Amino acid sequence: MKIRGAVLREPGKPYSIEEMELDPPKEKEALVRYVNTGFCHSDLSVQLGNINMVLPIVAGHEAAGIVEEVGPGCTRVKEGDHVVATFMVPCGKCEQCCRGMGNICTGSFVNFVNGMLLDGTSRLKDRDGKMVRHGNFVSGFSNYTVIPEGGLIPIPNEFPLEYACLMGCCISTGWGTVTNCAKVQPGDKVVIYGLGGVGLNILRACVMRQAKPVIAVDLEESKEDLAMEFGATHFICNSKEDPVPIIQELTGGGAHFVFEAIGDPGAQIQGFWSLGMAGKLVCVGITPADQPTAFPMQTVPFHNKSILGNNYGMISTYVDIPRFVEMAMANDLKLDKLVTNKFKLEDINNVADKMLKRQIHGRWVCAWD
Ligand SMILES: [Zn+2]
Ligand SMILES: [Zn+2]
Repeated sequence: MKIRGAVLREPGKPYSIEEMELDPPKEKEALVRYVNTGFCHSDLSVQLGNINMVLPIVAGHEAAGIVEEVGPGCTRVKEGDHVVATFMVPCGKCEQCCRGMGNICTGSFVNFVNGMLLDGTSRLKDRDGKMVRHGNFVSGFSNYTVIPEGGLIPIPNEFPLEYACLMGCCISTGWGTVTNCAKVQPGDKVVIYGLGGVGLNILRACVMRQAKPVIAVDLEESKEDLAMEFGATHFICNSKEDPVPIIQELTGGGAHFVFEAIGDPGAQIQGFWSLGMAGKLVCVGITPADQPTAFPMQTVPFHNKSILGNNYGMISTYVDIPRFVEMAMANDLKLDKLVTNKFKLEDINNVADKMLKRQIHGRWVCAWD
């Protein structure tokens, strides 16, 4: 069938909006019509070449839609299901999956990086009949896709798809980081560096876990309103003032947890110095591959500090995404405040440019016709 999507052909170049041919689903795959797709900072990083992918790909990894057709052998989803697409498709067989860590599945990783489905092939061709790759199984910036059913999580029909798409990345990464990795407890003193989609969900999760204080830090002063709306107790603009002494003062000697949700070496160093004794720096932002961070390691043993990393909020997609959806339906996750704009596919390069200039507040979501 004919579909259209945003294809990234060269790093550093704009997306090209193209018509493509999509083959039907094979065994244990489904055809999904996307309804909404979020634009994540990692999409920008892929476009800029800061995250290396094999090109050309249809990018986008934060999407939700409706199953239109299933291939042979599908048991997890059926036609008509509303689904969240996920960029980790746990193989269920590798050591990581068997340890309950499908978020770092090594069995499907080669296909993840190569932009192939689980059988090592693509269902996408461009107008010239040349293969186009699937962006991390999801290919969120196309109006239709074929995806392994293991990458689809059915959700209740009444849950809005414009919020559901965010379950694919920023909600899961943010909430999972707080609940699965840091395991924040009531009264923990926390700091969040970077108020993008992931950072705002970390912030909200910390507030709802009754952390205090919850200090939000961002280079953009204009993000203060959103930080306060999400429940931050304090906001510091680190392009205007050094956040470290202020945080040390507010926390009476440093934070229990500092979350770095940008992937910036400067913020990581500020975050490290914001920690108290036995504090934990949780790194969830993706730092460009060629930018190392020089941590003052002497204080790691002396002060009993830790630097933690986590991929995809350490979630088990089949377990955690339905839980996050239920939680979102019962509680105020501020998703109505998180989705701040809808855009059309044709505007995607404009959206990427605005994100590069840090002009996007909350999450902008592509709305498919
Ligand atoms: Zn993402
Ligand atoms: Zn696996």
